[in-house]
Amino acid sequence: MRILVTGGAGFIGSHLCERLISEGNDVLCLDNFFTGRRENIFHLLDNPRFELLRHDVTEPILLEVDQIYNLACPASPVHYQYNPVKTVKTNVMGTINMLGLAKRVRARILQASTSEVYGDPERHPQTEDYWGNVNPIGIRSCYDEGKRLAETLMTDYHRQNNVDIRIARIFNTYGPRMLEDDGRVVSNFIVQALRGEPLTLYGEGEQTRSFCYVDDLIEGLVRLMNVDGLHEPVNLGNPGEFTIKQLAEEVIKVCGSQSGFTYLPLPADDPRQRKPDITRAQTLLGWNPTIPLRDGLKRTVEDFRSRVKA
Ligand code: NAD
Ligand code: UDP
Repeated sequence: MRILVTGGAGFIGSHLCERLISEGNDVLCLDNFFTGRRENIFHLLDNPRFELLRHDVTEPILLEVDQIYNLACPASPVHYQYNPVKTVKTNVMGTINMLGLAKRVRARILQASTSEVYGDPERHPQTEDYWGNVNPIGIRSCYDEGKRLAETLMTDYHRQNNVDIRIARIFNTYGPRMLEDDGRVVSNFIVQALRGEPLTLYGEGEQTRSFCYVDDLIEGLVRLMNVDGLHEPVNLGNPGEFTIKQLAEEVIKVCGSQSGFTYLPLPADDPRQRKPDITRAQTLLGWNPTIPLRDGLKRTVEDFRSRVKA
């Protein structure tokens, strides 16, 4: 198959390109390099099955493809808040452009949505039928509401134009190739632990997240794309739930670091808890994450050691 991956030079996108090529597909990787890096896909550039396009999804494009994975969007709060209006444009105009393309060439399209559509959830764990608790005018809204509208667009293109859609609600994912200055918690903690600096806990560090290793997520995305007739959102994440303080302790252990902690103010609208109910993915995709936090952290730390100077 000929497959378009938008955001393909990013963290998740580069792992996805690799996987799709290894299965014998032709991959078109499209990226504007806002948070993506050539280094992430450098090893693929010589592969005749791989093609790189520098392009911004907010501009229309016409390509002949069979499937589209729409991942283009900065994912770290630091990066998506850098230019919030652009984040909204990427999620809204970018998704419209990709849906228009899917409609025109009759491609199946998967949208990388997010657990942030649940906002600061009042239901725990989160099932796909929960509508969420999202602030429409807060500093996270450009991302949360952008992704919610992307889900609306996907569903309306399906209802109105019969576009063959898939929606993955991705929970916190980590692994090799996250940027050192990405700003998300796993990469921040690993860099700080390797440098012997204190780990920055926001608030009391009692808020929870559930961390999925990137290989598990990629398996879920590929299964979701290739199952027939599943047009409703599907949670993809690892239900293992940790407080941020527990994560910090785990990272210090895995890095063999002497670092301590420092406490910084909790950012506005930071969700207090998050844990996916993955019954739908288990039942309909036969998918289960297999890599526990400690093993995933070991693999991730190995990658960071080669990039981060102590
Ligand atoms: P990332 O920042 O590493 O990757 C995003 C990629 O999209 C980058 O390569 C960036 O340059 C590119 N991009 C951004 N805006 C673009 C635009 N307008 N046009 C073209 N390319 C553009 O982030 P990631 O963690 O790999 O996330 C990938 C996708 O998965 C995102 O859509 C994100 O919202 C979603 N997601 C990720 C997580 C996670 O924990 N990593 C969780 C939920 C959802
Ligand atoms: N966090 C933290 N220290 C950091 C970075 C993040 O304590 O250096 C916290 C952040 O406040 C949030 C959690 O870790 O509660 C996860 O943050 P991240 O930005 O990785 O993801 P998101 O909040 O989007 O789930």
